[in-house]
This record gives sequence, structure tokens and C-alpha cells, in this order.
Amino acid sequence: MEYLLRDLRRTHYTGSVTEDVIDEEVTIMGWVHEIRDLGGIIFLLIRDIEGRIQVTAPSKKLPAEILEDIRALRKESVVAIKGKVQSSSKAPNGVEILPSEITVLNMADQPLPMDPTEKVKAEIDTRLNSRFLDLRKTGVSAIFKIRNQMFKSIREYFADNNIIEINTPKLVASATEGGTELFPITYFEREAFLGQSPQLYKQMMMSAGFDKVYEIGQIFRAEEHDTLRHLNEAISIDMEASFMDDTDVKNILNDMMVKLINDVNDNCSNELDILDYKLEVPQGKFQDIDYDEAVDLINARGIEMEYGEDLSREAEKVLGDAMDDFYFLSGWPTEIKPFYVMPCEDQSQKCHAFDLMYKNLELSSGATRIHQYDLLVEQMIAKDLSPESFESYLKAFKYGMPPHAGWGLGADRLNMVLTGVENIRECVLFPRDRHRLTP
Ligand code: ATP
Ligand code: MG
Repeated sequence: MEYLLRDLRRTHYTGSVTEDVIDEEVTIMGWVHEIRDLGGIIFLLIRDIEGRIQVTAPSKKLPAEILEDIRALRKESVVAIKGKVQSSSKAPNGVEILPSEITVLNMADQPLPMDPTEKVKAEIDTRLNSRFLDLRKTGVSAIFKIRNQMFKSIREYFADNNIIEINTPKLVASATEGGTELFPITYFEREAFLGQSPQLYKQMMMSAGFDKVYEIGQIFRAEEHDTLRHLNEAISIDMEASFMDDTDVKNILNDMMVKLINDVNDNCSNELDILDYKLEVPQGKFQDIDYDEAVDLINARGIEMEYGEDLSREAEKVLGDAMDDFYFLSGWPTEIKPFYVMPCEDQSQKCHAFDLMYKNLELSSGATRIHQYDLLVEQMIAKDLSPESFESYLKAFKYGMPPHAGWGLGADRLNMVLTGVENIRECVLFPRDRHRLTP
């Protein structure tokens, strides 16, 4: 038994142990997924990030000490296996490895706190308690491989359109949109908060002349609700662009979604198959429904809703059923949107805000922003916020703030859409909700 890597190195991942390398000697490294000891022959399944490969050990052909090592193995132990690749009609990928050397790099304890082989279904809480084991499942890691593609495509899209990546502080002195939903923290001798949105900072970057910016970062919301689409720590994809209005930034969001879904289909077909999910590519421009029209439609379908209210869960559901998969909901009442949203010129009770929806799930909220200092102060006061506590933000509006617009898009919710998963917790490695702060 040898527990150190020393000069041992992997030559192949399981994905490249194929018919192309028959008769070659390879070294693979991974976890013991399965052990089947039939007496005269032992089958191992070794798993790595790319998949699984069968290792076949016939007792007649192998030295006794190798067989002994194999018999001592426990499931989920970490091993390095050197051996020759041979074709096998019975092996899952048509090839198997005949081992010549087995190195145990770390033996796993038994019993395991949960089964990572997908044979036994476990409750989400059990799974999250042993998340490192849960993530070994192909169907779980597939979600995060798609998530990886999601961020890659989005960053590509932003880079191709000269949108600059920024990072803004997450330790903040005051609320973005009023006092609720904030996590207070102790900041030396003062109180501070965890940032609920990069909104104010990305707007200040418009005054800084950066023209178009984006940020992918943590947002923290002290919301108590316990739903399948809310977490207390989430990732937001935020963008803001100068000399643009809501229509322009909707087009950006629309184009980015189409590219993203095409990229996921092109590069993650294996993961989508594992998840048994078919991702429809939206065609052209998304449907766009005005808030007033949506209220009529919702009432006509038997769910009571007044003009001026936010959509209830039931309202979101009936609206989602009536629309295409992706659609914009635009022309919101000024009253229920944040202070920084630009009211409509002709009817100030409505504003230039929109949400991007996927069926009944809100993915993004965006708007044309107010860029005039006086109007901004007026809207703050109308919403019972004190301009004094926003002084350092307001300053950016006094000395040359261009007209601008932008949106915030929930990355974890977007990941749900790309994978067909119904619980947002599935899309986050170590989710933070009302009841969970570890692991
Ligand atoms: P909802 O009404 O669904 O609670 P919101 O309108 O409060 O969302 P925004 O402040 O508009 O959310 O944030 C922009 C986007 O960030 C949302 O559309 C959503 O995708 C994501 N998001 C916001 N809050 C959360 C959360 N608690 N958990 C996960 N994602 C969130
Ligand atoms: Mg919103």
C-alpha cells in the first residue's frame, strides 16, 4: 500500500480510455465506484471527473499481491491504476483495463454517510449534509458542468460586446433599496451590511465613464421565505450601460440568452442527456407583455389581482401558462419598483422597468434608471428613504451622469432553467437558506 503520489502521474482521464488506445499502457486516477468480486474475476469501476472505466482483474492472469490489494479496497477509496487497455464487448465503454499496478492513495471509511452512486435516492437535506459525496454523482456534477458553460458563455458575450467586468464591495454601509432584507454585520466599531445588490455601484460606474459594465458576484438577502427559488446568498449577473434605455438592455439580455442556450446545447449535450433534459432554443425576439395587459389576462383566468400590485405566485403561474417560455413583463407601476427606476414621462404612475420571466419564474429585473439628481431625490423621498444616507451615491449624479439602463439576472435561477431542476438548492454547491449555514 502506498499513500503518496511520488512520481506517479495520470496519463489518461477515463474519457480518453477508448478504442483508440487499445494495447497501450495507461495510468488512471479516481474513486472506486463499484467492486464486483466473482471469485475467479474481480471487476472494478473507477470514476473520475469525465466518467467511469471498468478495470478487470482475472485471478489466473494477475500476481497474487495485486489481487490482494484489490480485495482490500473499499468503495469510494482513491486509487491510481496502471494497466493495459483491451477491448471488451461487455464493458460499458467497449474497453477495459487489465491492471499491472494498483496504488491506494486514500482508503475511504465505511459505512459512507450517503451512497454516491445514484442507486439510492436520498432527501435533499441528507444530500446537502454530505454534499462532497453527493457531488460525486454524475447527475449532480452535470448541473455544475452546465453552470460552468453558462458563465463561460456569458463572459464571452460581455467581452465580445466590450462590456467591462467590474468588482464592487459586498461590505456596505447602507441598504440599496431600503432597510429590509439586509444582513447586519459588525464592522469594527460600526454597523454595516452584506450587499443585497451591486446596483448603486454599477450606476456610479456610469458616472465614472466606463460606458458598459458587468459584475458576477454574491448578493445577500435576509428574506425569511422558504421557497424553491430563493436563497439567502445568491449569485447575480448584473450589467449597466450608458446612453441606452430599457429597450436596448432588453435586447442585450435577449441576445445573450439565445447565445447561451445555443452554447449549452452545443457543448453540454452529454450533461443534458444525463439530466434527461431537452433545452429549447428560443427563436428571435422574446414576447413582451405590458403589466396592465398581464393584469387583465390574470383576472380573466380566474386569479384576482388589482392594478398596482406585485404578482402573487398564482398570478405568475397563470401568466406563465399563457405565454411563451421566455417573455418580458414591462411597464410596471412606479410604486412597486425601486426608487432608481425612471418613471414614464406621460404617466408617472408607470415606469420603465421590466422583468424577464421563464414560465412562472422571474429570472431578471431591469430598467431605464433615473439619471437626473433632482428627480432621484424626489423619488427617494416619495419612497420614505432619506437622501442623506445615500450621499456618496447621489454625488455621482451631480457632476455628469449619463442616461443609462441595466438589469440584474439571477445566476442560480438561470442554472435551473438550463438544467430543468426545480429546486434552486440543486444549482448551488453549498446553498445558504433560512435553515442552512453548513457545510
Ligand atoms: P423575487 O420577486 O423573485 O423574490 P426580486 O424581484 O426580489 O425576486 P431582484 O431584486 O429583482 O429580485 O433581483 C434580480 C434577480 O436576482 C431576480 O430576478 C432573481 O433572478 C435573482 N434573485 C433575487 N433574489 C434572489 C434570492 N433570494 N435567491 C435567488 N435569486 C434571487
Ligand atoms: Mg425583481
